[in-house]
Order: sequence, then C-alpha cells, then structure tokens
Amino acid sequence: MPANQKENGEKEHKTGNINPSAHQYQAGDSTDRPEDQWKYREPYRIHESNETFPVKWRGGCHCGKVKYQLSREKPLASKYCHCTTCQRLHGSPFQWAAIFHKKDINFTHGHHELGWYDPSNFDISHHLPCKVSCAFCRTPIMDEGRNMILLFPTLIEGINTKEGREAFAPTCHMFYPQRVVDFRKDGLVKWSGLDNMSDLIDEDENILIKWEKDMTGEMMDEKKREVLEMNV
Ligand SMILES: [Zn+2]
Ligand SMILES: [Zn+2]
Repeated sequence: MPANQKENGEKEHKTGNINPSAHQYQAGDSTDRPEDQWKYREPYRIHESNETFPVKWRGGCHCGKVKYQLSREKPLASKYCHCTTCQRLHGSPFQWAAIFHKKDINFTHGHHELGWYDPSNFDISHHLPCKVSCAFCRTPIMDEGRNMILLFPTLIEGINTKEGREAFAPTCHMFYPQRVVDFRKDGLVKWSGLDNMSDLIDEDENILIKWEKDMTGEMMDEKKREVLEMNV
C-alpha cells in the first residue's frame, strides 16, 4: 500500500512538472508567470529520474501529502532556537532546525501542497525568507532562507534511531535567554541571539564572550574555541 501510494505520487509529480495542472495554475498560462517561477528553482525543482540524487534520508509531513529526500548524510549544522517567534510558530518550547543547501533536497510528492508564511511581513505569499508548511495538515516542513533551508529533523524517517540522533546532533542553543526550558551540562554552546553574532553565554546567562559589532563570524569562532578549550 505505501509503495503504491509512493509510485502514484511520483508519477503525479513528474506529470505536474511537464504539464503543470496543480491548483496554482490556470489553463493556458502554465510556466512563465513570475509567481510560478519558484517551482522550477531549488529547493522545489523536481529532479528527473535520470539525475543522480543519492538518497540518504527521507522525510514527510504528518498527513503524507508532502514527501522529500535528502542527499546529504549530515546537515551542515543543527541548532536549537529558543526565540519566542519559534516557540509560537511551532507551538513548542524551542525549534530544532538542520541546515542544508537548497540542492540537497528533492521533493518527491506534494511540492504543490505547500503553504508559506513570512513572519517579518505577516505575509503568506512566497517571499524569502519564509516558513514552509504542508498546506493540508500544517506540519512545519522547513524555513526557506535566501541561500539555505532549515529543515525540521523530526519529520525525517529514522531520526529516532542512534544514527539519526548522531547525524542530526545539535551544536548550539540560540536565543537562550528567551527559553522556557533549561538545558544544563548538555555540552552545547549557548548564544544570547544568533550563533556567532551575539554574546556567548553560560547556562546562567553570564557572558563568556561579548560580541562586538565589528566582530566577524571567524573572529567570534576563534574566541569561542579559546574559551571552550579553557573550560575543558
Ligand atoms: Zn501534510
Ligand atoms: Zn527562533
């Protein structure tokens, strides 16, 4: 049964790519409208069957309309965000996001079933950066930035295994002072805001490294390494 469903989904998808018939389209004006262009760009571009796309992980929303594959074994980074926007938008104590290149994802089903939300402008058109969710079951899928995507790893099959936990292990806490839950002695770096662009703090919010406006990410990274080595 699931194999069948998948086959149908993929078939539907390929047809959709060549001769788009999804609800966003009006008959006769299929591909050249600016508002339709996102469908042909990464991360939404559908990989043809003759393209090599090594599948390392698969993921999907709760209702199963949206399904995707990932071609990287590990994300570029994995982070917990404790900001109140993430808390509210996810209905959870914090957001867990794994960063991937836009080319690392291949939607095999349901890329016409996505809904967008741009929290900065309270806008639901496809405008970057934005939040992407399943338009049917509303499962948050990812945040789409201008260059990267931030996927929510709890949608990935096998994430609840040793391999899954290791591959997607988080490296830091961001916006830690806004938290609703404490993390003590978990060995992860804590930032007052975005990583490498805010103060590095300890679990009691004491500042370990003060971020200065003219500090680059690399400078902060180097200082961070010094402080962490001292504390080991
Ligand atoms: Zn869904
Ligand atoms: Zn956040």
